[in-house]
Amino acid sequence: MQSEGLLIVISAPSGAGKTTLCRGLTQRFPALRESISYTTRQPRPGEVDGVDYHFISEARFRQMVAEHAFIEWAEVHGNLYGTALATIEEARCSGVDILLDIDCQGAKALKQRGVRGLFVFVLPPSMHELRRRLESRSSDASEVIERRIVRATDEIREARWYDYIVVNDRLEEAQELLAAIVTAARATTERMVGQVAKLFDI
Ligand code: ADP
Ligand code: 5GP
Repeated sequence: MQSEGLLIVISAPSGAGKTTLCRGLTQRFPALRESISYTTRQPRPGEVDGVDYHFISEARFRQMVAEHAFIEWAEVHGNLYGTALATIEEARCSGVDILLDIDCQGAKALKQRGVRGLFVFVLPPSMHELRRRLESRSSDASEVIERRIVRATDEIREARWYDYIVVNDRLEEAQELLAAIVTAARATTERMVGQVAKLFDI
């Protein structure tokens, strides 16, 4: 019996390991679909339009905003990013669970609009380790890393209103915890009550 698709919203400061954890989650739950956002930023090498993002012009983005095509949108690092309303509605109706990798502003907008979902914040174990990961990952210039560290402090303040916090210290443990959170969220009474009513005719 089909229930409404679960909306999983994951945010984290850059470098905390969100991409790594999301990849692990989609491997663990192959039916989970990743929402493909719209963005005005340029594709990075290897990124594919329609797979990683829908890469669009700022004019087109603004037009979509005016048409109320986004359920949320935000400016992040000087570029615009948005989640299409249609993506969410489609997942809801088809019963498919959907993963949204969006920043705190977007997540907060969804929460404030009363969108039902599972809101998870991924934290690094320390600022020191965040810096180490940013430096070890990247081709980013040192001033870009500094900006990300400064921004991380503000983002971490937002963690308090999320439903769950996953500290990504040991990767395997964080992956297990995230999977457990998703599994539990699928079995909440709110989600199950309709099925129970049908199963037991009550
Ligand atoms: P984000 O998407 O949050 O910016 P990434 O997933 O790209 O972060 O991870 C940043 C870097 O840290 C990558 O090099 C990744 O391999 C590494 N990383 C992720 N999780 C861990 C972990 N638990 N322990 C050590 N390194 C990690
Ligand atoms: P990147 O450009 O590195 O892929 O993503 C930069 C930031 O934008 C990340 O924090 C990512 O979560 C966020 N982001 C990606 N898509 C969306 C979206 O549709 N809405 C919002 N609000 N943020 C997004």
